[in-house]
Amino acid sequence: LKQTMEDKLASTLWNIQQRNLGEPEFIQAVKEVLGSIGTVLAKYPKFTEQKIIERICEPERQVIFRVPWQDDRGEVHINRGFRVQFNSALGPFKGGLRFHPSVNLSIVKFLGFEQIFKNALTGMPIGGGKGGSDFDPKGRSDDEVMRFCQSFMTELSRHLGEYTDVPAGDVGVGRREIGYLFGQYKRISNRYESGVLTGKGLSYGGALVRAEATGYGLGYFVQEMLAARGESLEGKTCLVSGSGNVAIYAIEKVTQLGGKVVACSDSKGVVYDEEGIDLPTLKRVKEVDRLPIETYVRYRKQARYQGGGKLWEIKCDVALPCATQNELTGKDAEALLKNGCMAVAEGANMPTTPEGVEKFVKAKIAYAPGKAANAGGVATSALEMQQNASRDAWSFDYTEKKLANIMKDIHDRCLETADEFGVPGNYAQGANIEAFIRVADAMQSLGLI
Ligand code: GLU
Repeated sequence: LKQTMEDKLASTLWNIQQRNLGEPEFIQAVKEVLGSIGTVLAKYPKFTEQKIIERICEPERQVIFRVPWQDDRGEVHINRGFRVQFNSALGPFKGGLRFHPSVNLSIVKFLGFEQIFKNALTGMPIGGGKGGSDFDPKGRSDDEVMRFCQSFMTELSRHLGEYTDVPAGDVGVGRREIGYLFGQYKRISNRYESGVLTGKGLSYGGALVRAEATGYGLGYFVQEMLAARGESLEGKTCLVSGSGNVAIYAIEKVTQLGGKVVACSDSKGVVYDEEGIDLPTLKRVKEVDRLPIETYVRYRKQARYQGGGKLWEIKCDVALPCATQNELTGKDAEALLKNGCMAVAEGANMPTTPEGVEKFVKAKIAYAPGKAANAGGVATSALEMQQNASRDAWSFDYTEKKLANIMKDIHDRCLETADEFGVPGNYAQGANIEAFIRVADAMQSLGLI
């Protein structure tokens, strides 16, 4: 039975590949999920009869649109905007917006696809979607960013709504951008619909802990992974790639929990600080001054900067890739394993290549995929939606406790499901199986839609 299932899955995957040619990141994400669910299909034949896989892999709706805007000198620019509304079986589409020159349909689809399962793992009523633009905010003035956001939202607004689709931030979209986007939505719709976007500023319906949530959640998740192996973060040397919102708050939480983060990075290079990355300095450089990470070494005498380098060659116990997709290759995985790394948890979405994942799984170290380990961000977005719906605002402590509980729950469910389906200790498969069953079950109940 298992063999025929695998054959069927292979031909389904082939069909999906044929109809999504030129979308390598999307196919990579689909392969990764389908590679985990053979045993699920064997157990629930209904999912195959009802073509749940084919339906899950086809977005409910995809919008691609023109975004015209003018820079400070009056020159006109045209960017491309995307919103992929992937699956709303569990709730309104939910997922971030990414502004980065690399953004294309394949990348938005892979992110949207991952988001379906990530959101399912949180146990909250949110479907999966993602969007963004190939707009590059780097070097743009505040005014330019505002004009771009307004133009982007002018089209996107007709596809959103607190019961329809609720975007948030991602790479290149932080609180500033969410503010401009919300302002334009409010103006166009003539509604103060707080729950239409998350990651808002505190003065207009935002929630405490949302800014910290992805990184904090990752810290809690690693703590659970280590605890499951009779270890803790106390005294562990950690690497965190990236230096954006996820990386900064991952460093903060890991440090609070007793770990020592010795390196972080940006697209230009790596900073190594043997005394541990100093958070006030990092926040000043990246959040306030918005400068390259190289600037960090100006303020910390013992710190070293290496342009162009990767940080995975540095000796560590715990590695947290928090930058971008496919940043950690098979070779990087080998270097980490050789240096005795015992746990890897993904703060970014799909940062480890399939070759890298294979190496971690084979070595049986603790490896957690982004859809489980970084789900704290979107889970706290769902908490923001709850507060907006009830016109309430919760305290920092109360919200952070909820986040910590959600992360522990995701961690435990991944391990329990992995056990139940004969792949003990495999967080990647446990996460895929658990999430797939939740979504497939809802889709089946809703009929052929
Ligand atoms: N962009 C984040 C993610 O990858 C957050 C999405 C959200 O809060 O809706 O999960």
